[in-house]
This record gives sequence, structure tokens and C-alpha cells, in this order.
Amino acid sequence: MPKCPLCGSVKTKRSIFGGYRYQGTPFYLTRCLGCGFLYVDPLPDKDVMKKMYDDADYFKKYWVRNSRILGYYEGKDAARDNAVKTLDVIKKYKNTGSMIDIGCAGGHFLGAAKEMGYKCTGLEPNAAMAAYAKNTYGIDVINKDFCEASLTLPKFDIVYMGDVLEHMSGVDNIFGCVKNVMTKTSLFVIEGPMTFNRSLYNMFLALNMVFKKDRMSDNPPYHILEFAANTMRRAIEDNGFRLLYFRITEDSPRFVEGFDGNSLKEKAGRLVKYVSAEVSCSPVGHALSLGDRVFLIAAVR
Ligand SMILES: [Zn+2]
Repeated sequence: MPKCPLCGSVKTKRSIFGGYRYQGTPFYLTRCLGCGFLYVDPLPDKDVMKKMYDDADYFKKYWVRNSRILGYYEGKDAARDNAVKTLDVIKKYKNTGSMIDIGCAGGHFLGAAKEMGYKCTGLEPNAAMAAYAKNTYGIDVINKDFCEASLTLPKFDIVYMGDVLEHMSGVDNIFGCVKNVMTKTSLFVIEGPMTFNRSLYNMFLALNMVFKKDRMSDNPPYHILEFAANTMRRAIEDNGFRLLYFRITEDSPRFVEGFDGNSLKEKAGRLVKYVSAEVSCSPVGHALSLGDRVFLIAAVR
């Protein structure tokens, strides 16, 4: 029986968004009736996870935010622009010190942080990415599983996780490991997608699903945990952190996956996405936490 990775409730229902089919196994997007959290059931086990990421496709098919660029290496400059925007906010809370990026990939974020004077360390399980970060940005990268490494790592002033948490199973476990490398004055920074969220565009996607015969997508279940504004707040606060900064935004429609063609439905998809981003980023949208991206800064309580 599925058990909510956030609150532990066993009362669940399958979501209208279907799920994923990977190597013949269905992974259903499942909603917890206790806290509203959305996650895939079953959670992929270690072997499936290893297979998913050893497959080099993940970084090749990586869309760089706010750009039309496909591929992690190709998106270097666009990724740097995104990093600078984030770092400009972080620096208001701490403008110097040591920083670890958990799941740093090829180090685009840390490269920008290093330029701003932070003392940077990366952690990346993918060996090719870890080597790229080292060679390109001259950053020390630990090529290990984070939880294992966290037991022997020093403390950091800033712990950053960008687009990583949704790929991991076990919220309390990972947050416990994060605390291993934090002090009372450290900052914990999270950025990530909220694919299923409160926005106009999401309503459009849900409506689309109503008419779909097969709601399962033939992609690996890369995103295991699907946070929304309320469940992210809860995950942070229930695990011994307090929020210092919390912002939900919506990226504009650089490229709407699945709606990049010229049919009426695809055109409508792009239009709705455009309006949706405008609404989510308005003062009313912010007040209602509308949008598809979260950016938060927390400290240990
Ligand atoms: Zn729950």
C-alpha cells in the first residue's frame, strides 16, 4: 500500500495526471488525501534510479530554464543568468562564506557563486558531470551519494539544492542529511519546479487529461516528489526548519513542452501558458502562491 513520503498517511488516490511507464512498470502519480502531497507510486527503487541516470539521456534532454536551449552543456550561459538572479537574493542574507551545491551537475550554479566570492564545494553522483564542474570551474566536487558523504563533510554557511529534491525519495531522510552539514546560522536554499500547481496553465493541462485515453507518459519517473506551495512549506516546517524567504513564480513560455507545434490545441497551450505566467507573477498571483517554481531560504529552527 502506498504511504505518503511527506505525512505517512496511507489514504491516497490516483491523480488525473496519470503517471509514467518505465521499462514496463507503471509509476502512478498519487495524491495523499491526508496532506495533499503528490508523488509517484511505487517509488522507484535504487536499481531503477541507477538505471534512469546512468542512461546519459538525462543531461542531453535537459531544458535550460528561461531559454530554448536543449542540453546541459549547451545551456551554460543561460544557466549562469538564472544562477546570478538567485545569488542576488541569497547574498542579501549571506554575502560571503562556504557553499555546497547538492546535485551540482556540471557546476554552472557554483561557477557563478565562485565569481561572487563564495567558497564553493559541489556534490554530484554523476561522474562525468562532476569532472566537468572540476575542469570548467575549478571547483572541488565530491562524487558520492550525499547522505553518505554528509556524515564526514564539514559544515557549510550555505547549503543549496536546485532542481534536485523532486528527484529524491524520503523527504525526512534527505532533510536530516542536510542538517548534518548545517550550523544554527547556516542557510538552506531550495529552488525547484512545481509541475502540478495552482496556475491557469495547470488547469488547462488537467482539462486536457480529461479527454486523454492514455494518461501515462513514456518517460522515466525522474520527478518522484511533486511539491506545491503548501506541501513545500509543510516539508520545511515539519522537518525542523524555519522559512526566511519563500517565493513562488512562474516562468514565461520559452517553450511549452508538448505544445510546440502548430495545431489549434498547441497554439492554445502556448497562449494559456503566456497568460498564466502573467497572472502568477502579478501581485495577486504572488499573494495566492500561483506558479510553477519555488525559491526558498530556510534556517534550522
Ligand atoms: Zn501526506
